[in-house]
Amino acid sequence: MIRIDGASGEGGGQMLRTALSLALVTRQPFRMENIRAKREKAGLLRQHLTAVMAAAEVGEAKTEGATLGSKTLEFVPGKIRGGDYRFAVGTAGSSTLVFQTILPALMTAAEPSRLTLEGGTHNMQAPPFDFLQKTFLPLLARMGPQVRVKLERYGFYPAGGGRFLAEIMPCEKLSALVLTERGATTHRKAVAIVANLARSIAQRELDMVSHHLNWPADALEIIETRDSPGPGNVVMIEIGDGVFDEVFTGFGKVGTSAEKVASDAAGEARAYLASRAVADEHLTDQLLLPLALAGGAFTATKLSLHARTNIEVISMFLPARFSVQEREGFVLVEVK
Ligand code: ATP
Repeated sequence: MIRIDGASGEGGGQMLRTALSLALVTRQPFRMENIRAKREKAGLLRQHLTAVMAAAEVGEAKTEGATLGSKTLEFVPGKIRGGDYRFAVGTAGSSTLVFQTILPALMTAAEPSRLTLEGGTHNMQAPPFDFLQKTFLPLLARMGPQVRVKLERYGFYPAGGGRFLAEIMPCEKLSALVLTERGATTHRKAVAIVANLARSIAQRELDMVSHHLNWPADALEIIETRDSPGPGNVVMIEIGDGVFDEVFTGFGKVGTSAEKVASDAAGEARAYLASRAVADEHLTDQLLLPLALAGGAFTATKLSLHARTNIEVISMFLPARFSVQEREGFVLVEVK
């Protein structure tokens, strides 16, 4: 049984999600103590518990300590079964993080899967649905698995109630992924979404993006929707080749002006445009696990404590060897 101290390193929920993913893929049981010890509300929140239950269901696992607020979990995986599943967070907790927890197992399973995921689809501190669709999954497709996702309803904090579907065509053996050279930037777009809120909020965000990045009107789009249980707003800035795009997100929140939300996202986009790295901080977090399964290399804008902690947890389950080299203006991450 692998023993993990959830208070080490960054001490957050990613340690648990990575352990669940790799317990399934490698069929190794683990026990984690001090779950999310460095977060304000430690222990399993609804999103983490849903991830545990989802992993237990697709991997026929036995669990101990899988209750709300629990700070200790034992997880003993069985056999992975692809198929039809529905997982609902039940709050506005991130459904994309639940999806990413079980994806490594299902993308290497013997059968295809069809998933329905419910909860938040555009949450702070989680990949928004669009990041999955435009950034993460196109890269995964280069490794073999074909994963199609479709948004059915937006879910924002605090009302939640979003839904997306995923179809996973697994592959027997993952191919290594090498992303050391950034391709030409041929796609630039900023999308501001307002759910049950005034269109003027989205317009102010796009004006700000256009001001910071000097983008023309045809690179800006407003999406107004009433198809969400609560109000919500995000602005997302896409930069890439239209097949693989980095997505930089500003999340609207009460008490923060639309201008500030958009300026922060534009600032991240500008820093990315000025760098030579392929992966921004968030994509870096999320590439480590697939690359540890298949090998490969990528250039990153930076390697955060979040990413370094993720490497530590991955190394407990897999013999992958990570090499991290600081270069001028970026970091080269290689996985063997
Ligand atoms: P928890 O809050 O559950 O303890 P954590 O603190 O370990 O989780 P976070 O740092 O909140 O984890 O990040 C969760 C994941 O969401 C990481 O992979 C991170 O890169 C990703 N993420 C956060 N914000 C964004 C964003 N704007 N775009 C894409 N991915 C994001």
